[in-house]
Amino acid sequence: MPVERVDPRFVPGLAADDVLGAVFCATDGVADPPALTREVVRRAAALGIDVQERTDARELERDVLVVAAGAYSGDFGVDLPIRPLARQLLETAPIEGLPDELPMVIEAESGFHFRRRDDCLRIAMADVEPRWGFDETVDESVFADRLERLADRYPPAAGTSIARAWAGLYDMTPDAHPIIGPVGDGLYAACGFSGHGFMQSPAVGRAVAEDLLHGESTLDLSPYRLARFSEGSTFPEHLVL
Ligand SMILES: Cc1cc2nc3c(=O)[nH]c(=O)nc-3n(C[C@H](O)[C@H](O)[C@H](O)COP(=O)(O)OP(=O)(O)OC[C@H]3O[C@@H](n4cnc5c(N)ncnc54)[C@H](O)[C@@H]3O)c2cc1C
Repeated sequence: MPVERVDPRFVPGLAADDVLGAVFCATDGVADPPALTREVVRRAAALGIDVQERTDARELERDVLVVAAGAYSGDFGVDLPIRPLARQLLETAPIEGLPDELPMVIEAESGFHFRRRDDCLRIAMADVEPRWGFDETVDESVFADRLERLADRYPPAAGTSIARAWAGLYDMTPDAHPIIGPVGDGLYAACGFSGHGFMQSPAVGRAVAEDLLHGESTLDLSPYRLARFSEGSTFPEHLVL
């Protein structure tokens, strides 16, 4: 990845006096996951694939069932070490004068991060006490803390408020990497993406299709096999935002 060391003061408005170092990746991007998903479904249907919405995948007649049910992937009759973890995104009210070139900013030490979305900022951070479980309600008790962090790190946003917030579920595995590969008779897993699955999805989709259709894939999927947990060959990812 073209990640460079930079002087954090290159970000206009950022309070960087307490920052010892920074890195920046100019090719990072953002995308709209629901729009992308809809487009993938549209193209699949256009290719003649039988798309059945609002159908429980467990009831389908099939040769192979790909378990790709996110936080619900543990419901497929095979013991997968996947736990739901609630995480939320907060969006500020519009802030005047946000520079177009404001990059996504992550405090590596705290995990607090924000990025521009139109004329608002989207803020996120891991909870001090992880919210394990399927409860997707928004916890408003963190709003004041997140706004204070935002004002400290990015003073042009001081005084703003949270206009909306929503929560979703991470599907966490013990090492925060996905489980990809056969997991039972006629069952193949592609789940447990632990909060960073959207960015991995193009590569994973291609690799899983190759593996299922041709018995091997151009990407080595073996590090993601289910057996890594019983074999003790996990490789924990620590940078989960
Ligand atoms: C707040 C938040 C922020 C995130 N930010 C990022 C980010 O910046 N970058 C990134 O890469 N990732 C991010 N992620 C993670 C990313 O959203 C997930 O890793 C990704 O959506 C996983 O995709 P998936 O298809 O495996 O599962 P999901 O997107 O969870 O989709 C699973 C689907 O399976 C369906 N399903 C469940 N049970 C069944 C069943 N029995 N039959 C049929 N269908 C079923 C569900 O309804 C759902 O539609 C974020 C997640 C959250 C919650």
